Amino acid sequence: MGEKGAKFIFVTGGVLSSLGKGLASASIGALLESRGLTVTLQKLDPYINVDPGTMNPFQHGEVFVTDDGAETDLDLGHYERFTHAKLGHNNNFTTGKIYDRVITKERKGDYLGGTVQVIPHITDEIKNSIRLVSKGVDVVIVEIGGTIGDIESLPFLEAIRQFRADAGKENVLYIHLTLVPYIGTAGELKTKPTQHSVKELRSIGIQPDILLCRTDRFLSKDIKSKIALFCNVSTDAVITAKDVNCIYEVPLVFHQEGLDNKIVELLNIWTRAPRLEDWQNLCHQLLHPEYVVRIAIVGKYVDLTESYKSLNEALSHGGLPNKSRVELIFVDSESITPNNCVEKLGQVDGILVPGGFGSRGIEGKICAARYARETKVPYFGICLGMQIAVVEFARHVAGMLKAHSSEIDPTTQFPVIYLMTEWYDEKSQTIQRRDMHSDKGGTMRLGAYPCKLISETLAHKAYGKEEISERHRHRYEFNNEFKARLEESGLVISGTSPQGDLVEIVELINHPWYLGCQFHPEFKSRPMTPHPLFREFIKAALVKSDYRRLTCA
Ligand code: GLN
Repeated sequence: MGEKGAKFIFVTGGVLSSLGKGLASASIGALLESRGLTVTLQKLDPYINVDPGTMNPFQHGEVFVTDDGAETDLDLGHYERFTHAKLGHNNNFTTGKIYDRVITKERKGDYLGGTVQVIPHITDEIKNSIRLVSKGVDVVIVEIGGTIGDIESLPFLEAIRQFRADAGKENVLYIHLTLVPYIGTAGELKTKPTQHSVKELRSIGIQPDILLCRTDRFLSKDIKSKIALFCNVSTDAVITAKDVNCIYEVPLVFHQEGLDNKIVELLNIWTRAPRLEDWQNLCHQLLHPEYVVRIAIVGKYVDLTESYKSLNEALSHGGLPNKSRVELIFVDSESITPNNCVEKLGQVDGILVPGGFGSRGIEGKICAARYARETKVPYFGICLGMQIAVVEFARHVAGMLKAHSSEIDPTTQFPVIYLMTEWYDEKSQTIQRRDMHSDKGGTMRLGAYPCKLISETLAHKAYGKEEISERHRHRYEFNNEFKARLEESGLVISGTSPQGDLVEIVELINHPWYLGCQFHPEFKSRPMTPHPLFREFIKAALVKSDYRRLTCA
């Protein structure tokens, strides 16, 4: 069937959400790669938004950005951190995006007067979308968002049900993640929720081949046999998905339970033995640090750490080469004032102001940046955090007291950060234009852009090369009109677009480590290859902490 040898694994979830379906899918990818296979991953999300770009991070968590500028579900972040898959627009489809395509075709008359229906038109479009990512890889892992029983996910489930008949039985595997709770009063693990969830799945025509059972303890042979019997799978296809201390242990636990063996057996793939030393070393490093550094994240979405998923991971990766555990202290920027910085930030070894939109808590972030600059605490500003650093510097060092970003104050006398109306776009190699009235969805600088580094700067030392590529997601830019004045006052511009018109990185001298970047480096950090800026930021924080040992923390 045109799949040219690619095999497909569909991962569904039952009982309740938040069982870790994204991490499970990513871990399956990691295990298959460890056997020498090439993989890609795709997320199918049942919600109606065309992409999560416009969704509130409080509700949906972080928006993950790919090199090609897609705004995607945060699970794609897990996929990229756990595997070498190159992900982009086609790796995340929502109901909205599928319908958008079908309706566009319908308007063009592509259906030749036929009645357009969920089956077959929507399901065909879903199947086409799955096939889009299958070229050149051995295995495609497709995660279906939501929980079995949701009305919304039915067309996706119907499409993957049909997929087995299209692609051939031996090329498709269904893996179902469920919960096996331990009920303290009964002193037992309960299999009923799993039985019900599988029953539901079977009622729509999907018989799972493998069950991943999320639980807090290893399942005994007896429990596995019971689940196997009721759910019609073999006992060795019942896998304990045990809670772990760190997410990078998941592939190891799955392997110990025989998951990768079972997958290659069922899909009839011959591979080498898995090589998991890297994962073992990584977990050892993560679980046995020597030092601890405390980093304040001064932001808006402090109540929901899901909003900063990649950031949290990148910070933890940055700790690895420094033998440090990175303790995150989320500080609500609205609570910071010039008078309470010592109280709020006095105990930390580094301050990070992450990306964000809108004016809430802005003055608190500016206070934090000023405190970091003046008291020489390492500072890392990401996107909005870089813009904040520029505004703070303009106000308190370069004498532009009312300086601001025009996102927050459109009438400011000193718009040091502003909406660039015309610039040269390296990606499309065209001149781009926009103004205040441009459509919100289409006016962001999104995805990977090249950046040229200036020698002898913190940035250059961290990366160790002249040109880098990093991912963006923002609308406002550094205003070159104030460049000379800011530079004269001591602001160092250490990275720009190759043409020089977009400022990408700023930093300070006479400070241990103070850097702001217009891009989001956290999207490209990997546990095995921590991002250089995070590595250097944590190093500076470690020095600031005077190498605080973990035991006396
Ligand atoms: N709100 C700012 C802008 O649009 C920063 C965005 C961000 O931090 N991702 O430019």
